[in-house]
Amino acid sequence: MINPSSACSIPSPGSSLTPIRGDRPTALIIGGGVIGASSAYELGKAGFACTLLDKGGWSQEASTAAAGMLGAQVEIHQPGPFYDLCRASLAIYRGWAEELEDAGGIPVQYIPEGIVRAAMTADDEHELRSRLPWMQDASWLTAEELLRIESELSPGILGGLHLPEDHQVHPVWLAKSLRAALARQGCLVREWTPATRLLTDCTGSVCGVATPEGELRADLVVLAAGAWSSPLTEPLGLKLPIFPVKGQCISVRTDAPLIRSTVFTKGCYIVPKSDGSYIIGATQEQAGFDKRAHVSTIAGLYEKAAALLPRIADAEFVSTWTGLRPGTEDELPFLGTWEHAPGLIFATGHYRNGILLAPVTGKVVASLALGAAPELDLAPYAPGRAAGSRGQEIPLTL
Ligand SMILES: Cc1cc2nc3c(=O)[nH]c(=O)nc-3n(C[C@H](O)[C@H](O)[C@H](O)COP(=O)(O)OP(=O)(O)OC[C@H]3O[C@@H](n4cnc5c(N)ncnc54)[C@H](O)[C@@H]3O)c2cc1C
Repeated sequence: MINPSSACSIPSPGSSLTPIRGDRPTALIIGGGVIGASSAYELGKAGFACTLLDKGGWSQEASTAAAGMLGAQVEIHQPGPFYDLCRASLAIYRGWAEELEDAGGIPVQYIPEGIVRAAMTADDEHELRSRLPWMQDASWLTAEELLRIESELSPGILGGLHLPEDHQVHPVWLAKSLRAALARQGCLVREWTPATRLLTDCTGSVCGVATPEGELRADLVVLAAGAWSSPLTEPLGLKLPIFPVKGQCISVRTDAPLIRSTVFTKGCYIVPKSDGSYIIGATQEQAGFDKRAHVSTIAGLYEKAAALLPRIADAEFVSTWTGLRPGTEDELPFLGTWEHAPGLIFATGHYRNGILLAPVTGKVVASLALGAAPELDLAPYAPGRAAGSRGQEIPLTL
């Protein structure tokens, strides 16, 4: 996969070359969200000298707007490769989080409490129970059993799935932790530096990016620009169907804890954090890149939360915010390479599950960069599917 500087990849006059970083291969990562950061971290471990660019400040988009659920069970509604990918990431999460904490000294606030997926209607109960035959770490609890675990839940609950392995992290602390770990690795982070265009050499290989400050070149480029990814590949002839899906959230705080587990029902979840706050989320809206929060929407979210956990009404209001998930048409990420753009690794379109999928994505990116043999089937995530092809099989290991 590594494409050492080819004879024809001559930089344009005035371009600033990627700094000489010894004998190590170089990687440019576009996007400093959780996916770009985890990719840079794993590439750094694999021996790459990394430069990470963000159009804004560090991790200010979807990755810090998230609730932090590691919802490998709760988010997936059918068995298949994506369920397996989510579970693979969940399986390595705790060790990965500890490794990050050791590397950078900042805790990600991993909380090993599970999720209760509560049914409020008979239809919802029916649909949830139908998932049980294929789910790996789930059991059905009656209303009585649920109330024994979480006594403040509404007595109107009909029962629910108990998902003890779907833990959580704090996305803001995860972002800080990744940044500290990258600093220790020597990764160059360039904030307020948008990649405006991918550069290709005369063989068609991607060999860098253009920025307002000049061109940057590297042995490989990782596209991790979240909801903003699509325009960068269009000039290469690949229109990625990635679009922003707005989520509005609220944060509240109580003096005494109301719940230990994350509680989740149709259209609303409440995630208790270690500082006594709760994240209540989240809407799903296709509103372009508009990040405004709206009173009526937030009020609707609050009503759903109060129906699930009535005493949330007594909580102190803390804040509200929105984030733009990188949505895709088939709700699957673009993870892999594309035969028509050697030198480019795609790690984008993680939609509702980017926090969960960060460790496995970083490891896949590093494996692709090293050209290692596959252990996970990446065909469902092939970037080429956007152009109607499944793309070329590239060896990879995990
Ligand atoms: C309200 C909400 C709740 C969520 N809850 C959860 C959850 O509980 N669990 C979970 O797993 N997931 C959750 N998600 C989804 C998760 O946040 C996303 O899947 C994940 O953050 C995507 O990460 P990313 O790095 O691809 O994107 P982003 O975090 O959006 O990062 C992309 C980065 O690329 C930068 N960028 C864009 N274009 C360029 C360019 N041209 N040049 C340089 N930089 C560029 C952007 O500035 C940005 O920093 C939630 C999302 C939202 C909005």
